[in-house]
Amino acid sequence: MYIHTDGIIIKQVKMPDDRKMLILFSKNLGKISVATNNQYPTKNKSNMAMQSFNYGKYVLYKVKGYYYFNQGDILKSYYRIGEDIEKYACTSYVFELTDANLIEGKPESHLFDLLLDFLEVIEKRKKEHILLVRAFEIKLLASTGIMPSLNECVRCGNPHTNEFSMANGGLICEDCKEKDELILKLDNNIIKVIKYLENNSLRALENLTLDQKILEKLNYFMNIYLENYMGTNNMKSKMFLKTIIKK
Ligand SMILES: [Zn+2]
Repeated sequence: MYIHTDGIIIKQVKMPDDRKMLILFSKNLGKISVATNNQYPTKNKSNMAMQSFNYGKYVLYKVKGYYYFNQGDILKSYYRIGEDIEKYACTSYVFELTDANLIEGKPESHLFDLLLDFLEVIEKRKKEHILLVRAFEIKLLASTGIMPSLNECVRCGNPHTNEFSMANGGLICEDCKEKDELILKLDNNIIKVIKYLENNSLRALENLTLDQKILEKLNYFMNIYLENYMGTNNMKSKMFLKTIIKK
């Protein structure tokens, strides 16, 4: 019996005998591993649908609990992302981050729509693609329940502070912070930008750009936060992204 599903291939793993294991983010099945049987001719439509940066319709079958690829059709190709090194680096990182945050077999339709929005918008954006990555990260943090707490001191509720405690994942005031804590300055502009990115859809951000200084500060904060809360420091695509976007 065949299984039909819409999905995005977020990773491909080479297997012996020229076979591939596709990591498919399926809209209704969540993240699943799909084995391909054999080599397909290069121009075959199923082969095209196996490439990265596609939103596709896939036909699979299941044997002894394992998924196998039968055929695929491209619903929408975002191949132009691969033609721009910056967009490519950003999207590779977003895919790896998504992969790391999905549990095999657990549907995440909200996150699926978010990833699709990301592909749609980054393909069209003209510059500052990293801002879209930051917005994606913020929405991912919100959906996984580890958003930084940015309204008031996390310990006493004092609303007047611009210092952020990494260990506490939130703002902290002068009275509550401890000597050896990792504290970052977080001025109001950055807090406002983070909230703005959280509360607006990716599609609404297609033309948004930021003052360079603010963007640099946002990058600095987000990089440290994600390293602490999502373990991104070990991600290959993150290192690659850092070599492409240096600020
Ligand atoms: Zn306090």
